[in-house]
Amino acid sequence: MIIIDGSEGEGGGQVLRYACALALLTGQPFKIENIRGGREKPGLMRQHVTAIEAACVIGGAECSGLAVGSNSISFRPGRITPGSYHFAVGTAGSTGLVLQTVLVPLMMADAPSHLVIEGGTHAMAAPPFEFIERTLLPVINRMGPTVSARLVRHGFYPRGGGRIEIDIVPAPLRPVECIERGAAGPVQATAIVAGVPFDIADRELTAARKVLVDWPAEAFAPRQLPADQGPGNALLIEARFDHVTEVMSAFGKLGVPAERLATTAAKRLAGYVASGAFAGPYLQDQLLLPLALARGGVFTAVKISEHSRTAMSLIERFTGTRFRTSTNGDSNLVEVIA
Ligand code: AMP
Repeated sequence: MIIIDGSEGEGGGQVLRYACALALLTGQPFKIENIRGGREKPGLMRQHVTAIEAACVIGGAECSGLAVGSNSISFRPGRITPGSYHFAVGTAGSTGLVLQTVLVPLMMADAPSHLVIEGGTHAMAAPPFEFIERTLLPVINRMGPTVSARLVRHGFYPRGGGRIEIDIVPAPLRPVECIERGAAGPVQATAIVAGVPFDIADRELTAARKVLVDWPAEAFAPRQLPADQGPGNALLIEARFDHVTEVMSAFGKLGVPAERLATTAAKRLAGYVASGAFAGPYLQDQLLLPLALARGGVFTAVKISEHSRTAMSLIERFTGTRFRTSTNGDSNLVEVIA
């Protein structure tokens, strides 16, 4: 039984989701204490419970201590069973993070799966749908499996109600080299509003333009969704390269000026573009698990995140696969040492 202190490193929900995935993939049970001990409100939230339940369902696992607010669970994995599954978070908790829990185990299964996940699709501190579709999945698909994603309905905080659908066709994972981004391609900033004043989108785009001064005017576009998908607002700023696409996001929050959110997201995207790295601040930790299972691979990244460091040490504990990180000037390299 692997014992995990959930307050170590990043101390968030990711350690829990990756632990479930790693337990299913390696057959090793674990116990985690101090769940999300590094967060303001520690313990399991609704979205974490749904993610762990999803892992139990696809992996025939048994879990004790599973309840909203719980600080400790024990997880005993069974056998991964591919198939058609429907998971509903019930709040605006992230659909993308439920996917993060089950994606890699189902990619390694012996038959395809179809997932319907309901909850938030564009909410803080989680990958928005476009990041999953355009940033993460293209790299996963280069590794062998075929994974496609559809956004059926947006879901924003606090109402949720979004829906994504995922098709997963497994294949043996092969290592990939993600060093060069290739040539710069199209750029796009989209401000989405649903059931909130349209002028929020205009203000966000104006603020983003002040940072991304060399982007053409037509790269900035508002998008109004039917009001019943809201209330909600998201800004998605995307830069495409030959080999990778980065999607930086901001999510409207009561009390935070739209301009401030947009400026921060635009500066982060500009920082990514200037860095020359393949993986931005979020792709890096999400690549570690598939690369470890491929037992090889390498990528360049912007500053190595605490999420990445936490994931590396967890993956090393479950699989014995090790990572090497090195810094050369502004550039960081992450390598899997099988
Ligand atoms: P945690 O904070 O431990 O619950 O983990 C959050 C996970 O969501 C990590 O895998 C992050 O890389 C990912 N994430 C958070 N914010 C974003 C974002 N804006 N875009 C893409 N991924 C994100």
